[in-house]
Amino acid sequence: MTVYENVKSILMEIGTTKLVCVTKTVDPAKINESIRAGATIIGESRVKEYEDKRDELLPCEKHLIGHLQSGKVKKAVEFFDVIQSVDSLKLIKEIDEKARARTKVQQVFLQVNIGSEPQKFGFAESEIPQMIAHIHELGNIHVQGLMCIPPFDTPEETRTYFRRMKNLFHALQQKNHDNIDIQELSMGMSNDYRIAIEEGATMVRIGSSIFGDRKY
Ligand SMILES: *Cc1c(COP(=O)(O)O)cnc(C)c1O
Repeated sequence: MTVYENVKSILMEIGTTKLVCVTKTVDPAKINESIRAGATIIGESRVKEYEDKRDELLPCEKHLIGHLQSGKVKKAVEFFDVIQSVDSLKLIKEIDEKARARTKVQQVFLQVNIGSEPQKFGFAESEIPQMIAHIHELGNIHVQGLMCIPPFDTPEETRTYFRRMKNLFHALQQKNHDNIDIQELSMGMSNDYRIAIEEGATMVRIGSSIFGDRKY
């Protein structure tokens, strides 16, 4: 199957769920093939890698999905429509600051460390409401969604993590006063996107099922 065919068939399969084509390590020609097939959002893990490819890409929405270091915030705010990997209060403040300098309102998702794994980035579930309240006080950052990378586990365990994300997502949507509108739940990758959709994902992030295995 070609990249073109893979994108077509995944788009057909996932219906109204949004697709982020994960394009880390993928060259611009292949990325453009995915866009021609109907992909509208690409996801990159590293600011520098995206910077090297950006001039060659067809128009599309760009999301940052990898951990963002302080030194790269300025460029991330310049390049990305959405930063999905917001994982600390410090980063929230830095994004707001850099976005203000560009008179931009930066759209972000908050990354949840749903498996409480020490080696993974992200907020604890319990921290999310206060982070959203904090962002609400700032002028140049807006939280649109939640993102998670669950622990690598059995399909049934994975399902319990996705279900906890959905419960958190729905609880936040109940609080829909105050202009707080959390619309997107970004979860599910090549191995588990079907389970994620069954559990309420609004957006899946798929790389290897489209572009083949990554060669680092
Ligand atoms: C690489 C990556 C993906 C895609 O993973 P695949 O298994 O190739 O589909 C999704 N989300 C994040 C955050 C990633 O880094």
